[in-house]
Amino acid sequence: MYDIAIIGAGPAGATFARLIGTKYKVLLLDKRELLNNEAGSLEKCCGGLIAPDAQRMLGKLGLGIPQNVLVGPQLFTVRTIDMQQDIERYYQRHYININREKFDRWMVSLLPSSVHVACGALFVRYYFEDGVFKIHFRNNGKEYIERAKYLIGADGAFSILRRQLLPEPFQKTYISIQEWFQVKNQQPYFSAIFDDEISDFYSWTIPKEEYILLGTAVLPEKNTTQKLELLKKRLTKYGFEFQNRKKRHGAFILRPSSAKQICLGRGNLALIGEAAGLISPTSAEGFSYAFRSALALAQSIQEGPDNLAEQYLKNTKELRMNITIKNMKAPFMYNAFLRKAAMKSGLLSMDIYA
Ligand SMILES: Cc1cc2nc3c(=O)[nH]c(=O)nc-3n(C[C@H](O)[C@H](O)[C@H](O)COP(=O)(O)OP(=O)(O)OC[C@H]3O[C@@H](n4cnc5c(N)ncnc54)[C@H](O)[C@@H]3O)c2cc1C
Repeated sequence: MYDIAIIGAGPAGATFARLIGTKYKVLLLDKRELLNNEAGSLEKCCGGLIAPDAQRMLGKLGLGIPQNVLVGPQLFTVRTIDMQQDIERYYQRHYININREKFDRWMVSLLPSSVHVACGALFVRYYFEDGVFKIHFRNNGKEYIERAKYLIGADGAFSILRRQLLPEPFQKTYISIQEWFQVKNQQPYFSAIFDDEISDFYSWTIPKEEYILLGTAVLPEKNTTQKLELLKKRLTKYGFEFQNRKKRHGAFILRPSSAKQICLGRGNLALIGEAAGLISPTSAEGFSYAFRSALALAQSIQEGPDNLAEQYLKNTKELRMNITIKNMKAPFMYNAFLRKAAMKSGLLSMDIYA
């Protein structure tokens, strides 16, 4: 039997496992093959930008990103385009541009050898009997059961653990699609694109070596493919070309419109990262929330193992407050009138001489 079983070896699960891995007997399960050098068929769909909050957390966790995880160009500017009001502005912001798949593999490579990592293992469900979690998962077509005292859900936006715990769906769940296009001339900006006809959230472009990623996040009832085609058409006016498509993938993104939607777990079952609903409701930046919640849970399990839920609630107070503050700022980005006023004022924007 394990002390702790963690479902999901993304940024949240791998960070938590690294922080507690030498003190407890830990099992870390992931359906992806994260121990090989080459990406398998299951890749996490992500923009792969490490924003300043996440950079700060990496620093706090004593980590520096190795060169083979970085991709060019490194980005210092956000190009903000309001398509309906035809205004654009450039803002200074430094992102670290990474290969997301390599980033996840690197995080798993940092785990102490005492952590048992089971890759290619699809978690199916759990049962709680006699104070112990029975964890059912599949590997190569066979079903297995493992037991643990604590069960940690780090299985992302579509968390099976969260859905087993709370049957009602997360209130605002978006479908995001990203397409990769090969380009000759790269625009060295992260573009954030606002257009209410396409999404009440936002769309983006991100340069990655010889590719440009085009992504959008829409609510499920909307016709995602049609919206993406409209987005491409409208963006040609701003100098973008999307012709030579190499890849298309998708994922869910949660958008917590209130800190009350965050689900941290119950008893000895805890949720971290996006499984808990922890992600920025304004930018969909999720790395910093994955790291912060993993650290908060690692501290909680050491400070109050017999009272984990209460301790974890206490240790995530600032994180939950952060979601509330982001939601208070949201109208300046997502209300067309306020956004227009902010962009027109030119406050904090900069001129580009390209
Ligand atoms: C299109 C898109 C672009 C994004 N771009 C950015 C960005 O540029 N910067 C940023 O900061 N954030 C970005 N985000 C958000 C960010 O990707 C997530 O918030 C972050 O990855 C959350 O980390 P996590 O560890 O909680 O979950 P995840 O990274 O989703 O990891 C969950 C892990 O659990 C595993 N798993 C899931 N279900 C099972 C199961 N049943 N059995 C076994 N394993 C399972 C998965 O394989 C995965 O490895 C983006 C999200 C999307 C969808």
